[in-house]
Amino acid sequence: MLHSTLTVGKVEITVLHDAEVASPFSQSFPDVPAEAWEPYLKRYPEAFIGGDSRRTHFECYLVRSQGRTLLVDTGLGTGATNPNTVNQMFGGTEGVLLTELESAGYQPGDIDTVFLTHLHLDHVGWNMTGSGGIGSPTFPNARYVAHEADWAAFNTPKDSEIFGFDWWADTVAPLRKAGVLDLMPGETELTSELTITPTPGHTPGSMSLMINSGGETAFLMGDVFHGPAQVTETDWVFRFDMDSDQAGRTRREILDRAERENAVIAICHHSGFGRVIRENGRRYWQAL
Ligand SMILES: [Zn+2]
Ligand SMILES: [Zn+2]
Repeated sequence: MLHSTLTVGKVEITVLHDAEVASPFSQSFPDVPAEAWEPYLKRYPEAFIGGDSRRTHFECYLVRSQGRTLLVDTGLGTGATNPNTVNQMFGGTEGVLLTELESAGYQPGDIDTVFLTHLHLDHVGWNMTGSGGIGSPTFPNARYVAHEADWAAFNTPKDSEIFGFDWWADTVAPLRKAGVLDLMPGETELTSELTITPTPGHTPGSMSLMINSGGETAFLMGDVFHGPAQVTETDWVFRFDMDSDQAGRTRREILDRAERENAVIAICHHSGFGRVIRENGRRYWQAL
């Protein structure tokens, strides 16, 4: 896939496209009636497949700042690295992150920090080179960074099976054993241009990467939004939002901030970059 690269001041962001699936509205937004999607099908045709499914991307981002090389999220992974997720939830669809990374000119050893926006199964898929406790961290020179609240939320056999199967034992627990996982209590500056900040609701430890360089701003927001329609419909509840009220508040707060700072915004499950615009008092995603 052709890489989409964006420069924010002196920071370079490259989208690495791990995978793509069709997600029926009725499964991912069960409380939203089908007809409510119609204006968004017209406005954002690239975000949909057919008349009843979202085109769900699994995007990761390579971010270069002040000599540091970050990877934001590790996607779906493969049948070898994240087998239960790939086979039981996504019908065998496998990610291609490492191929994407290589075609962008980088090797796994070039990454010094893997920032995990949250610890859901579709954002941690390439963490390890194998599953079942076999293998090693895929990015051998990296510290893996996540919020401690997500570790607390999922690190018991019962909680890691909220999707009906265990992904945690293959993808996140082994990072702790390998001694490469740094759990953050809150907002943390990674470089003077990059800050990770809590944006909770989807999961208790969801965080976004805020980029500020040369007077320009961008927010990489993980799963705060599931598609451009939610920029307008901030109350629409995504099925796997763990605290739906807090998720809605976070969406509105981060949109307020994005408008104030004229930020470029990006979300994991939609392709490319956007900005927030207003039409007739309502906010919309506008693709760059
Ligand atoms: Zn998620
Ligand atoms: Zn996700």
